[in-house]
Amino acid sequence: MSSKDWIEKDYYAVLGVAKTTPSDEIKKAYRKLARESHPDHNPGDPRAEERFKAVSEAYAVLGDDAKRHEYDEMRSLFGSGAFRRGARQPGQPGQPGGVPFDVSDLFGGAQAGGGRFAGGGISDLFSSIFSGGGGGAGAPGPARGRDIETEVALDFNDAVRGVTLPLTLRAPGVCDTCHGNGAKPGTQPRACPVCHGAGVTNRNQGAFSFSEPCRNCQGVGTVVDEKCPECQGTGGVTKTRTLNVRFPGGVADGQRIRLAGRGEPGERGGPAGDLFVHVKVRPDELFGRTGDDLTLTVPITFTEAVLGTDLRVPTLDGAVTLRVPPGTPSGRILRARGKGVSRRDGQAGDLLVTLDVVVPAQVSDEARAALETFAEQTPPAAREHLDARVRRVG
Ligand SMILES: [Zn+2]
Ligand SMILES: [Zn+2]
Repeated sequence: MSSKDWIEKDYYAVLGVAKTTPSDEIKKAYRKLARESHPDHNPGDPRAEERFKAVSEAYAVLGDDAKRHEYDEMRSLFGSGAFRRGARQPGQPGQPGGVPFDVSDLFGGAQAGGGRFAGGGISDLFSSIFSGGGGGAGAPGPARGRDIETEVALDFNDAVRGVTLPLTLRAPGVCDTCHGNGAKPGTQPRACPVCHGAGVTNRNQGAFSFSEPCRNCQGVGTVVDEKCPECQGTGGVTKTRTLNVRFPGGVADGQRIRLAGRGEPGERGGPAGDLFVHVKVRPDELFGRTGDDLTLTVPITFTEAVLGTDLRVPTLDGAVTLRVPPGTPSGRILRARGKGVSRRDGQAGDLLVTLDVVVPAQVSDEARAALETFAEQTPPAAREHLDARVRRVG
């Protein structure tokens, strides 16, 4: 999904909700529409499938507060600016190529709305538009807080079952002494004399006029005469905060969890960034894990493999009995259904038990005699297909 999609498509119309509809109502509307248009309920109906896709796409944006906010901002910008022509086609998702997308329109629009770009220049706007709406400093309106990345190591069992852990984050926050304006207490910032508080200046180049962040005030629009001693005038300090984060059961090593709005706070009322948590899962001493399946290697004797046996093996929260049929080869994998990792949809993976036939390094005299008798009674292993090759090489 590109930001061009965002400009073209009216996701509110797709879901039949208003721009002011609260998020739980949007969720309800989505569920109803998704049920009605679900391909399982409309087999062979391409229009239902198209509708289902459109509804899912709309909810992927409107169902996520941070994305919804960005979407609203982008559409309020382009809905009222040069993109109005051809930009709004409510209720016609998936119509390809129908939008006149003229770069010179973009310049015109940016120029007309120059005051909106405090903190981000025209190139930021471009990158924001064409990078898939990732937001960040270039989004119009008050600057969005930055995303924060952090890493957490989970115990194997916690990752499988889910766990809530406190995460301590050190991240920039708003200075409490000056409340972020950077001015020494008792003084006030004043409007920047260069940009007169707009935060941007216009520069003419050829046929175009560019807006760029004011160099005097770095796009803030204000300047400070006496700096706040706490933050040295930056308005920000490094803060430590603790966040209780719920890791869902089944989270996997290497997974990245996004916590919308838990990143850095936005500047001057802008939306907060997101927190991304990289998950590392410590290995278990018994179990391995492949996706939702757990793995376990169980040694068995040669006679157990030949004669068959019942094996009692541990699971994550108990034990299970597995039947080893007579004549089971080494390396055979037995499956204990549903004894793996539980997924959020209620399904669970399996426990995959690999049988490893162990060969005794030493045997007693009696055992040796028995084995010799066994050998006499046993046909040789099928190696004829190898013998031909052995003869050829001498
Ligand atoms: Zn300025
Ligand atoms: Zn301060």
